[in-house]
Amino acid sequence: MKRTQRFTIAATLSAALVAAGACAGGEKSGAVASAAGTDSASQAINSADILQHIKDLSADSMEGRAPGTPGEVKTIAYLQAQYKALGLKPGNPDGTYLQNVDLIGYKAHPTASYTAGGKTISFKYPDDFIANSRHNRTETKVENSDVVFVGYGIVAPEYGWDDYKGMDMTGKTILMLVNDPQIRVPNDTALDTTMFKGKAMTYYGRWTYKYEIASLKHAAAAIIIHETGPAGYPYGVVRGSNSQEQFDVISPDAEKRVPVEGWITLEKAKEIISAAGQNFDALKAAATKKDFKPVALNAKATYDVKIDARKIQSHNVVALLEGTDKKDEYLIYTAHWDHLGKDTTLKGDQIYNGAIDNASGSSAVLDIAKAFTKLPVRPRRSILFLAVTAEEKGLVGAKYYATHSLYPLDKTVANINVDGINQWGKTSDFTVIGLGNSTLDDYVLAELKAQGRTVRADAEPEKGFYFRSDHFEFAKQGVPALDTDSGIEYVGKPPEYGMKKRDEYTNKDYHNVSDEVKPDWDLSGGVQDMQTLFKVGVSVANANDTPQWKPGTEFKAKRDSTLVKP
Ligand SMILES: [Zn+2]
Repeated sequence: MKRTQRFTIAATLSAALVAAGACAGGEKSGAVASAAGTDSASQAINSADILQHIKDLSADSMEGRAPGTPGEVKTIAYLQAQYKALGLKPGNPDGTYLQNVDLIGYKAHPTASYTAGGKTISFKYPDDFIANSRHNRTETKVENSDVVFVGYGIVAPEYGWDDYKGMDMTGKTILMLVNDPQIRVPNDTALDTTMFKGKAMTYYGRWTYKYEIASLKHAAAAIIIHETGPAGYPYGVVRGSNSQEQFDVISPDAEKRVPVEGWITLEKAKEIISAAGQNFDALKAAATKKDFKPVALNAKATYDVKIDARKIQSHNVVALLEGTDKKDEYLIYTAHWDHLGKDTTLKGDQIYNGAIDNASGSSAVLDIAKAFTKLPVRPRRSILFLAVTAEEKGLVGAKYYATHSLYPLDKTVANINVDGINQWGKTSDFTVIGLGNSTLDDYVLAELKAQGRTVRADAEPEKGFYFRSDHFEFAKQGVPALDTDSGIEYVGKPPEYGMKKRDEYTNKDYHNVSDEVKPDWDLSGGVQDMQTLFKVGVSVANANDTPQWKPGTEFKAKRDSTLVKP
């Protein structure tokens, strides 16, 4: 789980109001299970079951479920046995419940220096910069490469936006701002919500996008200027995660990536830009205009990135419930099984049990699978239950599936992801991260309306939480993907209770050895949320039409380009 969000704004919408204007998932076929049948099947999802699975998966004997360790062997054996016991088919067409995931683990040892306006600027790793290379060699060098400031480095046809303006970037070191531009309405201080979704971060704002576009432009180095507000996290997060071993999918396309991928601190960026005779704030202001053109700085960059790499074999676990008349179309539930493993340098408890993150989601998807087996009539579309590896290493297992899918992605109608469940009782609300992205929202709204609950939008869309769990790898490939989170309005509790419990978890247990099963847990709220996601899945699997990205969503073009036209 990559969540540390704070819900400071009550962004609750009335489910009834929103659903009234929404198409609640299209017409259903008459040949499918009744609402009563679905309701009764949903009762298979229960606290006792989920708690037992969480206890099993987060036991010390699972060693914190790190990919490529004995903990993985035990975890995937457990999940396979459970899916088999439910009578689900092996999800891999090769007849197994496993998808091999070939990973590379790598650690960078970079140096960097810039010259600007005749001055040499030296950099300290990892305090001033981080740099990586995904090329298949032990050392990658960029020497005296021309430095160009490319603003936000975005090419977004739907907004008529192109920061590169056709300028040749081959062999250049490009400096980019993080996030996407916040554009003001002319003669007003309000944000223009028709451009890059206003305050929300679009995918164009994520660092992964910046490296992808830099690769297409044949740049030598893609360097992101860190700013805490726009990034959504302090530089320490960039430094911390990059100074550890990173994982990625082994890809034959690694050489097509920009040779050097990195970040620099805002202070260092300002130092380079000033020495080159320019002003950072002026450049940033220019970058929020459509007519921005790349600015060639009077500067050159040199990087030397040494890499230690090792191969790791890990696995996704996958089970299949075959559909009926639309069985060659698929709905995929995902939950990552991995967590952080153990740290033998710690005193006392050394095991990252990851009870909430994400033994809870893995357990919930086991129970959702059980509920599907209790339906009086099988769903029309096939359902895949996919427990992915290496989420904690950067959504790597999900990325592997989404780029090596076992069934065609153009026949994959949707992904529903579970990363952590509510452990503090029932709520009157439920959070949809990235509310407004796709028509999957309408299915959620319809279910919540029936339960008399409300939907809550992610209160911090500018931080890009939609891009931080496994469903995002599906979205990136164009598959409509739903990510939800617990509500925060607890039934019978004071209003501040939800936030207080969230903060307690975030501050004490999140990514800590104390993320363990607690005696005061009340999973009734988590059960209700998972029953909702089950019913959403049943509706999606049985509907005549398929979920769609809403217009203006950055994943829509990808879906439109990959779908085989009838
Ligand atoms: Zn996590």
